[in-house]
Amino acid sequence: MRFWISTLLLLSLAVQCAHAKPPAPAHGSSANRVASASSQAAFRMPESERKAIADYPSWTAPQEPFRIYGNTWYVGPRGLGVYLITSPSGHVLIDGGVPGDAAMIESNIRKLGFKLRDIHWILNTHAHYDHAGGIARLVRDTGAEVIVGAADADALARGGIDDPEYGDLYPFPPVQAARTVRDGERLQLGKLVLTAHATPGHTQGNTTWAWQSCRDGRCLQLVDVSSLSAPGYKLVGNRQYPDIVADYEHSFAMVAALPCDIALGPHPAAVHFWKRVAARNKGDANALVDATGCRAYAGEARESFEAELAKQRADGSSTK
Ligand SMILES: [Zn+2]
Repeated sequence: MRFWISTLLLLSLAVQCAHAKPPAPAHGSSANRVASASSQAAFRMPESERKAIADYPSWTAPQEPFRIYGNTWYVGPRGLGVYLITSPSGHVLIDGGVPGDAAMIESNIRKLGFKLRDIHWILNTHAHYDHAGGIARLVRDTGAEVIVGAADADALARGGIDDPEYGDLYPFPPVQAARTVRDGERLQLGKLVLTAHATPGHTQGNTTWAWQSCRDGRCLQLVDVSSLSAPGYKLVGNRQYPDIVADYEHSFAMVAALPCDIALGPHPAAVHFWKRVAARNKGDANALVDATGCRAYAGEARESFEAELAKQRADGSSTK
């Protein structure tokens, strides 16, 4: 990652707005809400994180919410995938953007006509500030329970502090998960079923979420493929994460093999989402549907990974 440009005003405004707004009624326990509210109040974004966010303006750029397919909706900022899956038994939200994005996400959900208090669960793809940053506030305002891959629960509760790759550079308001999932676990909310696929590497609890959405009797498999990138990661001799290479290899194979009609991601551009949306808006009704979408993403990520691994191995042997 590269973080050296600073345009801080927009972000600080967004953060201020996020703190200024009164909470909506919520159905979660008052203890949860108090804990979440205090983690919001205590959170101070360090300069390292302000710079990183300023370097990616799309992470805080407004995006009109819209229907992706059936009961699946896009509610995030332009550059960070936040997905709402609705059902008569309650709704599910996946991820929460960077700290400061929650107000925009909440406004997008309301714009679509859904109620924040009907959100039952907030799932997290992985415990990094650009996907978990808004979750504490979203919990406060919805009363939803947070569900995350088991190996990321501690990182989520620490608010990203002591990250194996980033140390304390990118914290976020801490979140206590109500439940954790392991590979293959299914979550059921009425007729809505979401399956957790463990795709470790980018984080150890990195989780890809899959579910089915239907429209006019045509049911498609949607997959929010969590990040498979390794930006600046130590792949050779990583004492904090000795199995990192094997985990990535497992995840590339796992994602490539998933049934997948519509590929989504925490970084939507990584699965060419916006290109497909643009084609659909121009009249190609099926532009988002591509059974090779997940496999292609896994292939591209694997290629970059292998190149970086070869480079680190060559650097390692040349310094011996
Ligand atoms: Zn990440």
